Amino acid sequence: MPDEQRPRVVIVGAGFGGLEASKKLACEEVKLTVLDRTNYHLFQPLLYQVATAALSPADIAAPVRAILHDCKKVEVILGEVQSVDVNKRLVHTGDLRVTYDYLILATGARHSYFGHPEWERLAPGLKSLEDAVEIRRRILMAFEYAEKMYAENTGDAAQRSGAMTFVIVGGGPTGVEMAGAIAEISRYTMARDFRYIDPSKARVILIESEPQVLAAFPEDLRNSAMKQLQDLGVEVRTGVRASDLTEEGLRVGDEYIRSRVKIWAAGNNASFVGKSLGVPVDRVGRVIVNDDLTIPGHPEVQVIGDLANFTNQYQEPLPGVSPVAMQQGRHAARNILGMIEGRPPQRFWYFDKGSMATIGRNKAVADLHAVHLSGFPAWLVWLFVHIIFLVGFRNRIVVLLQWAWSYVTFNKGARLITRNFQAETRPPA
Ligand SMILES: Cc1cc2nc3c(=O)[nH]c(=O)nc-3n(C[C@H](O)[C@H](O)[C@H](O)COP(=O)(O)OP(=O)(O)OC[C@H]3O[C@@H](n4cnc5c(N)ncnc54)[C@H](O)[C@@H]3O)c2cc1C
Repeated sequence: MPDEQRPRVVIVGAGFGGLEASKKLACEEVKLTVLDRTNYHLFQPLLYQVATAALSPADIAAPVRAILHDCKKVEVILGEVQSVDVNKRLVHTGDLRVTYDYLILATGARHSYFGHPEWERLAPGLKSLEDAVEIRRRILMAFEYAEKMYAENTGDAAQRSGAMTFVIVGGGPTGVEMAGAIAEISRYTMARDFRYIDPSKARVILIESEPQVLAAFPEDLRNSAMKQLQDLGVEVRTGVRASDLTEEGLRVGDEYIRSRVKIWAAGNNASFVGKSLGVPVDRVGRVIVNDDLTIPGHPEVQVIGDLANFTNQYQEPLPGVSPVAMQQGRHAARNILGMIEGRPPQRFWYFDKGSMATIGRNKAVADLHAVHLSGFPAWLVWLFVHIIFLVGFRNRIVVLLQWAWSYVTFNKGARLITRNFQAETRPPA
């Protein structure tokens, strides 16, 4: 079919949802444009390993152009979408206007600080490679700073303990993974690297407002996760909220905790692009989609993944996890191919295979519905699934080798402090 007669499909976002849709449409008889504000697809589930120096940024990201290069007709544009005009069928970036016949919007989510945007600077969240490298810098700098204080005999007792106290706010899978990984690097990886401090004495505190961590998991796995965290020396505080964040620390319930490094894993807000569609959104800005993923009044527009609020047959919104985004991406692509042939979009059904969270070496929980695993077997399943779904052959091999190396040696190879190290070795004002 000549190019000008092909329907023009635009996919915004090359994350889990957008990339699946792109791969399905890339070699079809459509004119496909994929737009993303980064030039890579990011495997977010392993971001915590970049943040804790187990992996390097390039190990968990793959260039979008390279992933789609086999289909020569795909156009990939690097640009940040500001808004969508659904009446004119136009996608706006800062300097471009891209027209479409069919649109898939998959711009994901960012953190939510529950009305305290000023906390973002004090307690970064983990969503992008930049976030992960910044968190890695803060964690590694905390040990350098403590070493310097002890070596020069400066700082009072509170400053010294605050320097090596890491607080993670939010006991969902990301918070649990971060807490476990920080405990591991301080207890094992860095234990022998310093002369004046003992990194294994670092305090790692995980805060969760619900009565237990991993609230979405079955009770036996929640209990198991709690025990596995405690075995690693993580102090878990449940049923309390964090407040009054400052450079020096934060309040947790009635207690004030001095802590130099705070990490936010407590909430999400959908990407701002969803609101520009002019259709109803939920409390966190997710677009409320029809049961076929289209938006009200515009069957040519579909919203998927973390940006969509999709209610399943039990009237529950689907969780913000990668299998939801990937299945919706494939479904949205199939809907478009059907609509081009004159068929209406079809209802989306989610096939839930279960969920997992890792806590550390040989430590994890996995809810596979029929069977609940914890400890070593859950950890093995977690490793296997993450290697399978990691995008890019090079990434799979590199990550597998890094994990094997770390498992045998307890070492983490990416302990690099990048940017601003002189300013950070000074005590905070
Ligand atoms: C730290 C972390 C750990 C996680 N661990 C797990 C896990 O273990 N298992 C699991 O199932 N899920 C996990 N998730 C959730 C999972 O990653 C998300 O549910 C999934 O990424 C959602 O896919 P998506 O396509 O909706 O959005 P994303 O994958 O977030 O993709 C959004 C894409 O849109 C682009 N974008 C955003 N805004 C714009 C814009 N304005 N213009 C252009 N492009 C834009 C972004 O650059 C990105 O490429 C984790 C998430 C995080 C943050």
